[in-house]
Amino acid sequence: MDAPLVLENFIGGTFSPCKSYIDSYDPSTGEVYCHVPNSGKEEVEAAVEAARQAFPDWAARSPQERAQVLNKVADLLEQSLEELAQAESKDQGKTVTLARAMDIPRSVQNFRFFASSILHHTSECTDMDHAGCMHYTVRTPVGIAGLISPWNLPLYLLTWKLAPALAAGNTVIAKPSELTSVTAWMLCKLLNKAGVPPGVVNIVFGTGPRVGEALVSHPEVPVISFTGSQPTAERITQLSAPHCKKLSLELGGKNPAVIFEDANLEQCIPETIRSSFVNQGEVCLCTSRIFVQRSIYNEFLKRFVEAARRWKVGVPSDPSAKMGALISKAHLEKVRSYINKARAEGAQILCGEGVDTLSLPLRNQSGYFMLPTVITGIKDESCCMKEEIFGPVTCVVPFESEEEVIQRANSVKYGLAATVWSRDVGRIHRVAKRLQAGLVWTNCWLIRELNLPFGGMKSSGVGREGAKDSYEFFTEIKTITVKH
Ligand code: NAD
Repeated sequence: MDAPLVLENFIGGTFSPCKSYIDSYDPSTGEVYCHVPNSGKEEVEAAVEAARQAFPDWAARSPQERAQVLNKVADLLEQSLEELAQAESKDQGKTVTLARAMDIPRSVQNFRFFASSILHHTSECTDMDHAGCMHYTVRTPVGIAGLISPWNLPLYLLTWKLAPALAAGNTVIAKPSELTSVTAWMLCKLLNKAGVPPGVVNIVFGTGPRVGEALVSHPEVPVISFTGSQPTAERITQLSAPHCKKLSLELGGKNPAVIFEDANLEQCIPETIRSSFVNQGEVCLCTSRIFVQRSIYNEFLKRFVEAARRWKVGVPSDPSAKMGALISKAHLEKVRSYINKARAEGAQILCGEGVDTLSLPLRNQSGYFMLPTVITGIKDESCCMKEEIFGPVTCVVPFESEEEVIQRANSVKYGLAATVWSRDVGRIHRVAKRLQAGLVWTNCWLIRELNLPFGGMKSSGVGREGAKDSYEFFTEIKTITVKH
């Protein structure tokens, strides 16, 4: 076993140790992987000071100059892809294959995308003769942006905030999840190498209640972009309210797949397996309620369970594994408790947890692994059908009519994403429009167009991210009137 890494905060372009540390584990073995700074108010104060000093110069740079620096960061990330993918997998439990194919390439893309999109925004101008005036708008960076990100897609989601905040001319204080801090720490070295000026990006590591709250409550951080759970968002909203901060909240989901009898099951089944179980089901967009029209229900269920059993769980370095380990022991227990509740309510567990056995090498037997689990015979009122489980567990239930399934799909507090499977074009448009979800994929899943708005309705969040939306969020608009 290698000695655990010791991470340091990154403030004002230099690495600084912390007075105390917390342990972070390799989910595939349960062994300590690194020691994470247990930062608090003091570190946030230092980061605010560094970000304040760096702001005037960074904000005054042209979009072209900022884009050049961001493109350099992207190039360096790309050159370190393999090293970052290995670290992300060890820190989070996902397979190396997925980190290599998705997390790290998407982090590279985030920097390139916003480096390019910042060059294409325009402002409005009217020269209507209102008392001899010309009116126009300008956008300016907001100031110091606080970025708080979760553990499920650590570098991907951090850079999805970092790149637009920087492109728009803000300086930044980021707080990654204390469970997965390693790739953010590795990124800091690359930021220096890319020529990001000291203080433009500061990363303070540690827990939500200590360092997260210090950041959210700081009066000199006027904008907070948060991705995480709904209860944390409530707390952040309360803490930031006295300062009237600008907030973006990207939260959880209880995402339905609605599968009509005319669906192409050859495509639908593998894609719904992926949408339910990719990254151990730890993606906010994962499907966790599958509504299948009665006439194809039995056939779907049989084929779906067979495919779930083939979705291999293995050690993260195994190239044939589709799923690695869950993030933590506490999370594994939470996910298991939902399955136990469903069982106690009389639902049937068709495969996975408690039904099938998983064999793992000796070293990984203390890891946080779980097999893909399919539940049926469950009521819509059950907590497994209402609450976000955020693990490899999905419920499959039948429905009769279009109207009925829309009502049932909408009957949860969340509204992040949905999928609709049908070959009837009219039905696809009708149903997609009525589903209460910020994102609806039809006959596919998780194909993202970064230009367009990303985000949820209801308790899934406030605000949208994307080329235009993130630019608007990380800037202030002013209307200027010039009398000539
Ligand atoms: P979480 O809310 O526990 O933590 C998210 C981040 O907030 C972490 O960095 C954490 O340390 C910090 N935090 C916790 N308490 C805080 C506090 N009081 N003040 C300030 N910061 C605090 O969420 P998680 O368990 O890390 O992530 C899983 C959740 O994230 C799921 O609900 C998932 O659906 C959601 N998520 C949403 C999206 C999206 O884009 N909508 C994407 C990924 C994950």
